[in-house]
Amino acid sequence: MEKAIVVIDEIYDFISGGSLACEHSEEAVAATKALIENNKRLPVLFVCDHHPENHCSFAAQGGPWPPHCVAGTRGGDIHDDLLPFVQEELVFYKGCNPAEEQYSGFDGRNAAGQSLAEVLETLGIDSVILVGIATEYCVFNSARDLLKAGFKVTIPEDCLAWVDRDGHLKTLPELTALGARIQK
Ligand SMILES: [Zn+2]
Repeated sequence: MEKAIVVIDEIYDFISGGSLACEHSEEAVAATKALIENNKRLPVLFVCDHHPENHCSFAAQGGPWPPHCVAGTRGGDIHDDLLPFVQEELVFYKGCNPAEEQYSGFDGRNAAGQSLAEVLETLGIDSVILVGIATEYCVFNSARDLLKAGFKVTIPEDCLAWVDRDGHLKTLPELTALGARIQK
C-alpha cells in the first residue's frame, strides 16, 4: 500500500482574512503541517484553486462566490507554513478555465500538464490521506472522484475547514457512505 498526502486549497483566500475565509482554516493548516512532519516519507501533492479574473464562479459573472484565488494574487498562494513542503511538479491547478467550475482536484493539472490522477498513478499511490478546504465542496468532490477511481481515501477531520459548520457535519457521513474513512 503506497500512500500520499493530498492537500486541497490551503490557500490564503480560504483562510482567515481571505475573501472566502473558511471556519477552522488556521487550525486545519496547523494540523496539516503536523501531519506532513509526522509522515516525512510520504509525497505531498497540493491542489490549488487558480482562477482567471472573470471566472464563472464569481458573483459578477452570476456565480455563487466572491472573487477568490485569482492567479497571481496573494489570495491564490499556498499558506506560507506549508511552502517548505511544496514541490513544483506536485502542485495541481484547477478552475483555470473562465467558463468551468472545478471543485474536484482530481482533474487538476500541474505546470507540465499532468493530472493529479496521472501523477498519483505514476508514483504508484493507491491510498490517499486527503486534507484541506472546504469539506462540503472541494474536499467532498475530490474524495468522491478519488474513490470512484479506486483509491483508498482517509480524511483526518482536524485537517479540514468548512464554509458552514452544519454543511461540514452533514458532509462527513456522506463521505463515509462513499467509502472514505474519517479519522477523528
Ligand atoms: Zn474557486
